[in-house]
Amino acid sequence: MDKATPKDVFSANRERAAPLLKQLRADGIGHMIDGKIEPSVTGDSFETRSPIDGTVLATVARGGPEDIDRAATAAAKAFKAWRDMPAPMRKKLLHRVADAIEDRADDIAVLECIDTGQAHRFMAKAAVRAAENFRFFADRCAEARDGLNTPSEEHWNISTRVPIGPVGVITPWNTPFMLSTWKIAPALAAGCTVVHKPAEWSPVTADLLARLVKQAGVPDGVLNTVHGIGEEAGKALTEHPAIKAIGFVGESSTGSAIMAQGAPTLKRVHFELGGKNPVIVFDDADLERALDAVVFMIYSLNGERCTSSSRLLVQQGIAEKFIEKLTARVKALRVGHPLDPVTEIGPLIHERHLAKVCSYFDVARKDGAVIAIGGKPHDGPGGGHYVQPTLVTGATAKMRVAQEEVFGPFLTVIPFRDEAEAIEIANGVQYGLTGYVWTGDMGRALRVADALEAGMIWLNSENVRHLPTPFGGMKSSGIGRDGGDYSFDFYMETKHVSLARGTHKIQKLGSSSS
Ligand code: NAD
Repeated sequence: MDKATPKDVFSANRERAAPLLKQLRADGIGHMIDGKIEPSVTGDSFETRSPIDGTVLATVARGGPEDIDRAATAAAKAFKAWRDMPAPMRKKLLHRVADAIEDRADDIAVLECIDTGQAHRFMAKAAVRAAENFRFFADRCAEARDGLNTPSEEHWNISTRVPIGPVGVITPWNTPFMLSTWKIAPALAAGCTVVHKPAEWSPVTADLLARLVKQAGVPDGVLNTVHGIGEEAGKALTEHPAIKAIGFVGESSTGSAIMAQGAPTLKRVHFELGGKNPVIVFDDADLERALDAVVFMIYSLNGERCTSSSRLLVQQGIAEKFIEKLTARVKALRVGHPLDPVTEIGPLIHERHLAKVCSYFDVARKDGAVIAIGGKPHDGPGGGHYVQPTLVTGATAKMRVAQEEVFGPFLTVIPFRDEAEAIEIANGVQYGLTGYVWTGDMGRALRVADALEAGMIWLNSENVRHLPTPFGGMKSSGIGRDGGDYSFDFYMETKHVSLARGTHKIQKLGSSSS
């Protein structure tokens, strides 16, 4: 049989999406509370629109404090049975969730494209990765409770871990399906119940996830999803006394607000926040591979990616040549309809986000930098929130375009002299999520890795996620780490149990022999 052409794939994607969208419009999106799809108590709703052409995708329940209270109460009610369920049983259920996600992977991919504007070439794998997240943590259900044996002379000391209780998970709109499973899968594997508040700009696949978890047989109340606005439903979730911890992914300023909102109820918080990540290219690097990684790490996923390398630090001796090659690649990037498999950059999530990204074109000019490529909205299919991939050169380290997170396909290039200057520029921002270093000198690679103030460093590589490794940021980029056992540390309490050998002396107060 002939191989399907990109045109065939594009029309197959549209055909797949059509009935799903029809049903979405007819059903709307409600909250999932205690296993039932519910409207908001107030009856309030909002519309979610596609960034491709502005069409209304669904009417979405707009949750408030009463809906959060119902969801938190359901999570609290379901907690004991879920916590005490034998680990092999929980493992089986979470694998079933992964199966259900895989069965619907193609549907999830097209819905995610239409709801968020992300290109299909990237979203095609998003559901598969989400299923992997569930499988990875499902396999660790039993060991989640493991502790240490630290005996002393007179006592047998052991530690164990217990799930902290019902938790809140608040997620952003960039790759929302995959990202929410990063937080929800370990919470469920640990034995916590969850109230999820997805981003208001991308509610579609969060609704599907809640349905798939129910369909897989996970008991009612274990995963509850309340849609709505951050300052309403999100705020109420962070303030609810039944919720013991908040796993949050989003902007640094929202993280600060959540910390304050959660303070009266002493919430444990885990924050994955913004970034202005450097990729440092030294003159002895494999420049072809470095170029591939530089382009991929800022222009994939519409640049709406926390780990994107949005600052290119390039050594002076190679800067001109490297920028010349980079320019050619950025010019050739294909902006287009997200369901078209040839598209590399789709429309940005929302008109407000498009306006924010476009505002940085003027910021760059005012700062005295040069917009070498792009710098305008793009007239794409459907007339949605498209923007030209943009390359800013002639920048210096203190300019706003070198300091602030733009969160779009927008790369700022800053030349540097030597290793010491590269480190100084790389660290001279409020953020510290990731750093990427390209060099042929392994000693230098390790020295720079050591000196960079970032939670994750890749040497001669783009961001490649390995689930057992710690994921998270320093400085304004976050608090805490995800991944493997690090996730369990957050969702669980460590409990110390000490058993006396019966031989140690106990002081006898109030006794004449003391
Ligand atoms: P955002 O902070 O605006 O919103 C994230 C979530 O928080 C949404 O669900 C929103 O409704 C909710 N929210 C907003 N205000 C709230 C409040 N007062 N109380 C409780 N919840 C509230 O972020 P966004 O614009 O959706 O996402 C983009 C940001 O996320 C970027 O800064 C990006 O770097 C960051 N991000 C970080 C990581 C990471 O791992 N470090 C990963 C992805 C995205």
